[in-house]
Amino acid sequence: MPVAASLSALPRIPVIIFSAPSGAGKTTILHASLNRLPYLRFSVSATTRPPRGREQNAVDYYFITEQQFLHDVAQDAFVEWEEVYPGRYYGTLKREIERIAAAGACAVFEVDVKGGVHLKELFGEQALSIYIFPPSVAALEERLRARQTESEDEIARRVAKAESELQYRDRFDHVIVNDTLARAIDEAVATIEAFTAPYRASRPAPIEL
Ligand code: 5GP
Repeated sequence: MPVAASLSALPRIPVIIFSAPSGAGKTTILHASLNRLPYLRFSVSATTRPPRGREQNAVDYYFITEQQFLHDVAQDAFVEWEEVYPGRYYGTLKREIERIAAAGACAVFEVDVKGGVHLKELFGEQALSIYIFPPSVAALEERLRARQTESEDEIARRVAKAESELQYRDRFDHVIVNDTLARAIDEAVATIEAFTAPYRASRPAPIEL
């Protein structure tokens, strides 16, 4: 569990953690929540994987070399980091929290399930951790089969991974079952609104930076 020894030097702002097994619709729900709630800011992670499609540096990720990543680890620049896939590192940067706090906003993290558990342990009451789950493993399997982009082996691997990730759901503050997208988005928005309300009540609206 590579995490920072202490967060005491970081500003204390509310943080929202989104995690999910692959294929649960996490990214869609997260982006809809960001659009609906202007006081949220996405915390841009660093990664050593190359950009995909239309991804932009400093918007989707900070795309950096492994050498730079390990240098940043040595400099204690990360709140947490994981080797999510073999040879592919991802990490949550302390300076992102500073940037978001300076704007008077609340931070949103999109991390893998392990990272979500670690961040919740670190931030405690300051964090709302949200776990997005497909209605059932059978539904996930059906969805994977219907899109006909995965081989049977790949489907089996993903289903097994989802089954093993299911056990983590109790470690999150809130589980959203993504049965209907619009409903799942409404539930995420309402949960975030309620969690951040006391903090927002004591602050001016966030500024654009
Ligand atoms: P992708 O390569 O598909 O963008 O992301 C792969 C996985 O890494 C996703 O589950 C994503 O949420 C996760 N991830 C992205 N940034 C971080 C991070 O900073 N820390 C951790 N632990 N996981 C991350």
